[in-house]
Amino acid sequence: MKIFIAKDAGYCFGVRDAVNIAYDTASEHGEVYMLGTIVHNERVIENLDKAGAKVVNDFEDVPDGKTLLFRAHGTSPELWKKAKNKNINLVDGTCPLVTEIHHEIKTLEKEGRKTIIIGDHGHDEVVAIAAQVEKPIIIANIGEAKKMRRIKRAGIVTQSTQMIENVQEIINVLMQKVYDLRFINTICFPTRRNHEQIKELACQCDVMVVIGSFTSANSKRLTQLSLERNKRSYQVTSAEELKEEMFNNCASVGISAGASTPDEIIEEVVTKIKKISKNSEGAILYE
Ligand code: SF4
Repeated sequence: MKIFIAKDAGYCFGVRDAVNIAYDTASEHGEVYMLGTIVHNERVIENLDKAGAKVVNDFEDVPDGKTLLFRAHGTSPELWKKAKNKNINLVDGTCPLVTEIHHEIKTLEKEGRKTIIIGDHGHDEVVAIAAQVEKPIIIANIGEAKKMRRIKRAGIVTQSTQMIENVQEIINVLMQKVYDLRFINTICFPTRRNHEQIKELACQCDVMVVIGSFTSANSKRLTQLSLERNKRSYQVTSAEELKEEMFNNCASVGISAGASTPDEIIEEVVTKIKKISKNSEGAILYE
């Protein structure tokens, strides 16, 4: 059985950097606090916790004099302001590509456009993008786009991990509703590459395995893209969930993983698939 691994499977550079910053800060200061989970992966959170990187749900739970790490997803200006007024150290783990989206949406607003974000309601990244401007409209799907009123001037940005197909469907509808529409494609390049690779692999392989937590919207999107092209697609969170029968009559398997899946879990899954397939050869990286 041939085993292909999508080259950009797993941690994107933004998440990798944020996790490394959390470890470094915890070792330097003894402990570091984060508002909410830094990545949507239970094992990473557990390991970080052991290293001294603690998750708190409320800003007020960060003890005086301690260090607060702002996550890769971005943070609202209001929270930045509050944090600066508190007796704590601040470390910024915001992904530069998220900062770029903040910049773009502010530019659209300055141009006098109603701002629109294509993204998931309530997702931390979307919440922080929305907080950069006055009353943006958030649209998650084509149904919501159809309900939108007509607007004279508007500008669109996207959540970094959106699927291009969803964005295109929404924009097709908005083009009929907005007279002067400007679209800035802020899907980040690691997401684009990951999506392209899984689409191709899913068409070429007998079985697809997507590794990622079910709390990760990003991993679920990968599974959706794979399932649309290959019915034998399975999302697993760890190697233990792989069953021999998944690989019956399978000559090739493609593997991808969400941006919050650490390397070690990908390696464990590859090892288990090799064991099941009795394949001692190395896996092939798919670009
Ligand atoms: S998914 Fe893209 S924008 Fe988000 S942290 Fe990763 S690289 Fe940055």
